[in-house]
Amino acid sequence: MVSYDVAVVGLGAMGAASLYALSQRGCRAVGFDRYAPGHDRGSSHGESRIIRMAYFEDPAYVPLVRLAYEGWRRLEAHTGQRVLTRTGILEAGIAGSASVESSLRSAVQHDIAHEVLTPRQAVARFPAFDLPSDWDCLFQADAGVLEPEKAVRLLVDAAEALGATVHTQARVRRVTPKGEGVLVELEDGQTVEAGAAIIAAGPWIGELVPELKPHLTLTRQTQTWFAPTAPALVTPDRMPAFLLDTGEAMIYGLPDICGSGVKAGLHGPEGVLDDADAPRAAASATETAALRRVLERLVPAAAGAVRRSTSCVYTRTPDEHFVLGLHPEAAQIVLASPCSGHGFKFASLIGEVLADLATTRTTDKPIALFRPDRFLGAAGLA
Ligand SMILES: Cc1cc2nc3c(=O)[nH]c(=O)nc-3n(C[C@H](O)[C@H](O)[C@H](O)COP(=O)(O)OP(=O)(O)OC[C@H]3O[C@@H](n4cnc5c(N)ncnc54)[C@H](O)[C@@H]3O)c2cc1C
Repeated sequence: MVSYDVAVVGLGAMGAASLYALSQRGCRAVGFDRYAPGHDRGSSHGESRIIRMAYFEDPAYVPLVRLAYEGWRRLEAHTGQRVLTRTGILEAGIAGSASVESSLRSAVQHDIAHEVLTPRQAVARFPAFDLPSDWDCLFQADAGVLEPEKAVRLLVDAAEALGATVHTQARVRRVTPKGEGVLVELEDGQTVEAGAAIIAAGPWIGELVPELKPHLTLTRQTQTWFAPTAPALVTPDRMPAFLLDTGEAMIYGLPDICGSGVKAGLHGPEGVLDDADAPRAAASATETAALRRVLERLVPAAAGAVRRSTSCVYTRTPDEHFVLGLHPEAAQIVLASPCSGHGFKFASLIGEVLADLATTRTTDKPIALFRPDRFLGAAGLA
């Protein structure tokens, strides 16, 4: 039987980043994925992800996102490839919008560069938009856009170049404690032993950690690309990423990064999935028409024809915070479910945290908000 220091199950954003961090530290690490890195079946696909610093979800994320920026820049320096494009982000919403207000509080509390703009100022600066005169607007210049598929592939390739073993099309059936370490059993009957395991299986994590499953909800999330009506206004140098709180929905969008158009989607759930393999359709004509109506009103430069749509999955916790830490009953198993629709930006930092936890069972990074035992208090290992 082959033996490693750490086995990583799942090479999406989190698993790939942890494999890279482990390899950089000289650990003997092995990674498994049931597909190939950069695939479109999990949560890390669709060309673009927003990274922003003033965090409406909770100001406790700000120190982490600062470290994540540094991590992405280090990956770029190591690989010579760009994954982060600075575009800024415009957050705008109905008067008194709780999300805009909360981002502003977070910016002030953590001394993050930001500008409170009137809608008129925002539109003058970013003419792709057309915002109602009584809306609240906040601009953060340091925000940007990450390229998820490219980043995941770079992380896995860099880890492999540093000595990690990578198995793709390799589905893990079970991870169980064995003495101080773990036994990893694959679908094809092979087994691997390791000193610790990181379970970063995205929306499939409930299959490998069934005691977590009742606490997670998988939701269908579509992403749709619109042809610009004014292409010159939606390039990353002219148009920031955006979050719009219309009072009825939270809509996010990204400028035309790759020449495929402006991507937009709903941050709210678009249906609950029974499991991660359940069929999930791309946006229907009715759904894209509804989104396009919002763009016509608020981002007219982006409201052209629909070019394409895909669907993705959010793995949501009841409090929308991540699950990240040691399994309460088996410290050699590290749990990583950083999603609820906002985890990607942290992957460069979370990879380091997972490597800390797998090798030393502790980390100096502030992750108390994400403790698995808030859900798994009394659970036994399946
Ligand atoms: C539409 C959409 C928009 C988003 N926008 C943003 C954003 O703007 N900013 C942001 O920060 N975040 C955003 N997110 C969230 C972010 O993308 C996720 O938090 C992140 O991608 C989760 O990564 P992961 O590694 O946990 O999961 P995944 O990327 O799904 O990776 C899990 C991996 O595990 C593998 N796997 C599963 N089971 C097994 C098994 N048994 N054996 C072997 N391998 C297995 C899978 O094949 C997969 O590759 C968005 C998510 C979606 C869906």
